Amino acid sequence: MTGPRVLFATPEVAGFAKTGGLADVSASLPRALAQLGAAVAVVMPYYNAVRRSGQPIERTPFVLPVPLGDRVLACRVYRSLLPRSSVPIYFIEHSPFFERDDPRLGRGLYQQVMLGGYRADYPDNAERFIFFSRAVLELVPHLDFRPEVIHVNDWQTALVPVFLAEAYRSRPGYNHLRTLLTIHNLAYQGIFGRDVLPLTGLPGWLFNPTQLEYHGFFNFLKAGIIYADAINTVSPTYAREIQTPEYGYGLEGLLASVQHKLTGIVNGCDYEQWDPAHDPHIAATYTPDTVVERKPLCKADLQRRFDLPVMADTPVLGMIARLVHQKGIDLVLSAAPGFLDLGCQIVFLGEGDREYHDQLQAFRSRHPNRVGLYLGFHEGLAHVIEAGADLFLMPSRYEPCGLNQLYSLKYGTPPVVRVTGGLADTVVNATEENIAAGTATGFAFHDYTASALYETVRWALTLYHHRPHHFRQIMQTAMRQDWSWNRSAREYVALYDRLCQTVA
Ligand code: ADP
Repeated sequence: MTGPRVLFATPEVAGFAKTGGLADVSASLPRALAQLGAAVAVVMPYYNAVRRSGQPIERTPFVLPVPLGDRVLACRVYRSLLPRSSVPIYFIEHSPFFERDDPRLGRGLYQQVMLGGYRADYPDNAERFIFFSRAVLELVPHLDFRPEVIHVNDWQTALVPVFLAEAYRSRPGYNHLRTLLTIHNLAYQGIFGRDVLPLTGLPGWLFNPTQLEYHGFFNFLKAGIIYADAINTVSPTYAREIQTPEYGYGLEGLLASVQHKLTGIVNGCDYEQWDPAHDPHIAATYTPDTVVERKPLCKADLQRRFDLPVMADTPVLGMIARLVHQKGIDLVLSAAPGFLDLGCQIVFLGEGDREYHDQLQAFRSRHPNRVGLYLGFHEGLAHVIEAGADLFLMPSRYEPCGLNQLYSLKYGTPPVVRVTGGLADTVVNATEENIAAGTATGFAFHDYTASALYETVRWALTLYHHRPHHFRQIMQTAMRQDWSWNRSAREYVALYDRLCQTVA
């Protein structure tokens, strides 16, 4: 085996515990890396969700001594394999921190439900992930191989490069290690009071604006950005955008100053799970050659599942998203009456902020025959929507990479996207030029306004109703794109190789 040797540290992995796209990446990228000949292991916390996941998990003999403040906690390590692979995944146990996810939330990995239904971050999130980051480093000597790179993800693991540099570097087995920090979403930085610093065991003088401090607070992601040997985000456009005030969440200056070590790699799509040719969740499987005859069966199934009149000629708009500020649900709600006037049905699947739940519910009650709504997390329904809708709405304010538009492409459900982040990098807008060139795969607009979204959907429907051969061409071109993990994993291997060449 000649590929890179990588320990992949992450707060969530699909199949074990998931809140969003990071979990999908954490399951798929290590598997694709292993297929390319990398030695790879994954490590995550041992949440209740992991215990309940139904995966076969065994206890290892390792007990890690994990320093936390003035204590050293002994923590057990469990082990399994990433499904459909021989990649080991390790789970760090510490029940006071990780065995608390709230069944009402399903996946309360970072948040709890407060009285009145609001969600709030756990008050000890800093402590939980300081602990986890330390445990990741303590796990290194117990792996089946000697890693060269620790690949960390988001603020929950961003302190690993800091601990490596400040506390582990001189230990045998650690001095050659390089770190890569992937930023999946800059909006979540892990910002805490200075009072959590003693939990890290790091010297107080590191708390300064060029290291751990951010305007008087301890910012985990900022610290990781400074200490990691390389940083990447999940699309090239997002890597550029976060160096600007509009998308930088206050870190744009820092990110611009480290652009020599900042790159972007578009995530892959797991085509084993998301391929209409062999999807067990959908009413009829199909390929680019059979989409025209068979997708209507999926559409009828979707309409039935959401109690909408089954009408083949009525365009169905689908949306699946965490219902949060990022995803442009406010635009969709503003434009939605216009979509109904254009003769559409609209189907929503999502959960998130209470205000959006309320507004969507009110919208559905006003138009029960035109609007389908499922508030909650439902993997199977996500597949049903991807296969059954005619257009997929993804008008995000910002979108580091986005997975749903990749699924939409594969399912021949042209995505309607705002030109930002990974949406800009993966969807080819149906302009007349791109239609003529046969390259169009979806519909895109720039301005974050309801009217821009509305006009784009109107244009898409013009093609749908009046130029069906062009609409079919867009569907089929979309389905033939390759956004597989194999492609992304090759780019990661090249990045790890570059990193390791810098080892003295
Ligand atoms: P993000 O990671 O910002 O939430 P992505 O588009 O990158 O957005 O990935 C979201 C993932 O979560 C996709 O796999 C999507 O299908 C899934 N998802 C989001 N909300 C739901 C939901 N309510 N039910 C089922 N799947 C969902």
